[in-house]
Amino acid sequence: MEQRQRAYNFNAGPAALPLEVLERAQSEFVEFAGTGMSIMEMSHRGGVYEGVHNEAKSLMKELLNIPAGYDVLFMQGGASTQFAMIPLNLLAPGKVGAYVNTGSWATKAIQEAQLVGEIQVVASSEADKFMSIPSLSDLQLPEQAAYLHLTSNETIEGTQFHAYPDTGNVPLIVDMSSDILCRPIDVSQFGMIYAGAQKNLGPSGVTVVIAKEELIATSPKTIPTMMRYSTAYKNNSLYNTPPSFSIYMVKLVLEWIKEQGGLSALQVANEYKAQLLYNAIDNSDGFYRGCAEQNSRSIMNVTFRLATEELEKAFAAQAEQAGFIGLKGHRSVGGLRASIYNAVPRSSCEALVQFMEDFRLKNG
Ligand SMILES: *Cc1c(COP(=O)(O)O)cnc(C)c1O
Repeated sequence: MEQRQRAYNFNAGPAALPLEVLERAQSEFVEFAGTGMSIMEMSHRGGVYEGVHNEAKSLMKELLNIPAGYDVLFMQGGASTQFAMIPLNLLAPGKVGAYVNTGSWATKAIQEAQLVGEIQVVASSEADKFMSIPSLSDLQLPEQAAYLHLTSNETIEGTQFHAYPDTGNVPLIVDMSSDILCRPIDVSQFGMIYAGAQKNLGPSGVTVVIAKEELIATSPKTIPTMMRYSTAYKNNSLYNTPPSFSIYMVKLVLEWIKEQGGLSALQVANEYKAQLLYNAIDNSDGFYRGCAEQNSRSIMNVTFRLATEELEKAFAAQAEQAGFIGLKGHRSVGGLRASIYNAVPRSSCEALVQFMEDFRLKNG
């Protein structure tokens, strides 16, 4: 039987995984490391699983060069649960949660925090329809700020921070769900980083939290046990049953990243892929129009439009026919979007550029 080709996968999330990772998982799916069972079928209290769990954690520390005084947690409930956990744990009465509003995901984080405590939006690009990243150079934080929260990459709008503000003693908390591990970062700048796995880290089901120990070691006793960071911190993320298969997959992805040459190598590859697509947009005589302002463009989610919605529909439909999946923009903003996370190969981007060029010549 003829082998079916893998799709050109531009899905926004869950998203493409490295083929090598899928094949490795396949090879040990039924029997893991001579145990006579799969990783999904064994106790999370046993040494075999704990080895995988701890290896995932230490690879994360190694790849991100995480300094002493930080820990890595594996949580459930997605990044969306972090939107609530952050204020529940860190926004004490009398304190203010400071937020930067850059788009759809930042807005969700803000709305959730408003259910919990007092918050203040200290910068916003809403007036610009979220097509840019606001300048934070003269950022004023409220005196009672418990933290500053921002969203490093707006997955839906296709904008990305390319530098982070210095917040002094106020912890900087960043939702990196759609760009974690896309480039090297200085973790010591941050109080907390969190990311749902299903864009750049692995399958859905696990959310990675990287945090200064002083922020997670003690949590209010007034909130439910599972909502306290201290519960995960004190129990090595093994207080209850962890999403063991997802964490195992994250470990494989981290090993793959290491084999690629780590985060510096990924950054070069990611910038190259993004440039291919942005060049195709910018050199199309206006046939394609990039949504995000140039300096705010994301190297993970490339958003663009055509002259009419009809043309956009035709583009998405014909692209799908040709094997390009996931190019329709998010239902909230429309247009088109190519998500080009770490695992999306350069060859997929080159094929898309060719398709875009052909489509333009036929319809321009
Ligand atoms: C996908 C995404 C989320 C939501 O993640 P879930 O794990 O589905 O809750 C939050 N923030 C950003 C930036 C995202 O891209």
